Amino acid sequence: PHGMQQVLRELGIQAENAAWSTGLAWGGASNSRSKTIHSPADGRRIGTVALATTEDYSHVVETAQAAFKTWRTVPAPKRGEIVRQIGNKLREYKEPLGKLVSYEMGKILQEGLGEVQEMIDICDFAVGLSRQLHGFTMHSERPAHRMYEQYHPLGVVGIISAFNFPVAVWSWNAMLAAVCGDVCIWKPSEKTPLTGVAVQHILADVLRENELPEGIFNLIIGDAEIGAQMAADPRVPLVSATGSTRMGKKVGEVVGARLGRALLELGGNNAIILTEHADLDIAIRAIVFGAVGTAGQRCTTTRRVIIHEAVFEDVKARLLKIYPSLPIGNPLQEGTLVGPLIDQDAVAAFTKALADVQAEGGKLLTGGEVLTGAGYENGTYVKPALVEVENHYHMVQEETFAPILYLIKYSGGVEEAIELQNGVRQGLSSAIFSLNMRETETYLSHTGSDCGIANVNIGTSGAEIGGAFGGEKETGGGRESGSDAWRVYMRRQTNTINYSTQLPLAQGIKFDV
Ligand code: NAD
Repeated sequence: PHGMQQVLRELGIQAENAAWSTGLAWGGASNSRSKTIHSPADGRRIGTVALATTEDYSHVVETAQAAFKTWRTVPAPKRGEIVRQIGNKLREYKEPLGKLVSYEMGKILQEGLGEVQEMIDICDFAVGLSRQLHGFTMHSERPAHRMYEQYHPLGVVGIISAFNFPVAVWSWNAMLAAVCGDVCIWKPSEKTPLTGVAVQHILADVLRENELPEGIFNLIIGDAEIGAQMAADPRVPLVSATGSTRMGKKVGEVVGARLGRALLELGGNNAIILTEHADLDIAIRAIVFGAVGTAGQRCTTTRRVIIHEAVFEDVKARLLKIYPSLPIGNPLQEGTLVGPLIDQDAVAAFTKALADVQAEGGKLLTGGEVLTGAGYENGTYVKPALVEVENHYHMVQEETFAPILYLIKYSGGVEEAIELQNGVRQGLSSAIFSLNMRETETYLSHTGSDCGIANVNIGTSGAEIGGAFGGEKETGGGRESGSDAWRVYMRRQTNTINYSTQLPLAQGIKFDV
């Protein structure tokens, strides 16, 4: 369907036991279990992957450790040159890889291609970064002494990724880690491993062409168990994990128990505030894209809209006009804006959340149906739902990873809206729509949004790679991608050098021997 066989061929994936065709050092080891991957779009089988065992995992770690010894000695700008080549290779494969992302994950093709573009962009960013891995220098309190800080490669970085950004989140981590001199072990989501295999092929080509060991970038296909093993492994100094808060609490605890470093990118419960001074035309576009884009399966998806009572009915009416006519269907079909949910479990969670929120007093305004009939046979397509609620409802406090948008009314000043927005356990993305400077500046001030991302007149969803990405509270506190997020991938060292003939001690301590 949709030329998928051709796409798999172009990406060099064998549909059978795809994991074994990566040329990894552990390929051909014990092959006890396998998993068949079906597309959420039409339920058809795309391929089968072999699941790694504990022994396979250990083998991969050893391969990575060996490669680190080579990679850390390559000068950072030369490492950047390898990343530049990876970016170019991704440009070549953008079309088939974007299609596979779309077909395996279910996001619309435009977003699949966008995800690959994001990988390319982070490569470009990392190339520049490879010449700027800088520390500070400070003046020493001692004469003829120099003091400075430097950053060294950390070692093996474990990357655990979620199904909804099957490849981009890996690249945010891996491309930065690579220029920092680290080697990576990537455990993609067990729901979307084939895109991981495809990316591994692309990487392997570049490494081979440069006569570098493939162990610089490693792939391990497995479920939560393999992830848990990585979290517990002291040979992996940094574990970067993206996924649910439930997963992050476990990973954080296990990594913390061994005093390792964890970078956690977890669930969100993102809100847009619409004050009475909002430009409603742009606000509505932002809300709809944020709430139904990727079928509500983005960590930055807009889950709540907090609307001033003066504009509440108007906003509701405008949304009610758009929602029933959203084009829902096969994500590879041109014109589709809403694709399927990842699987039927996700559909069940969507349906249950709607039942629960209504039991709490929520008013379902539109949507919520599971679609049936031609094109929807897979049972993974739902109609995005709009529900009028109060912020304190149990279900409103949770992240349901599906297209449910909660409308919440407020009547006071912007402070009241901010309190509602911040009144959840998560703290990823947030936005205000207002043309009133006092409102927007209050929102961005220290008494404003408590989230890692706070936007003005832009929605919650769709961040640029140039900024640091991540969130506070139960979102986990990690930062990835742009700005100085690279520092977490390196170990920091303070150096003091004495070029005098004396040995003065710090704090003027006298210690004559
Ligand atoms: P998930 O938590 O079910 O799985 C994510 C990954 O964690 C998978 O690779 C899984 O195998 C692994 N995993 C699960 N339990 C583990 C354990 N105990 N130890 C080690 N690894 C374990 O999440 P999902 O359903 O794939 O993704 C959706 C979630 O991810 C949502 O909550 C979403 O908000 C979040 N997310 C967050 C960000 C962000 O940057 N903040 C980005 C994308 C997705």
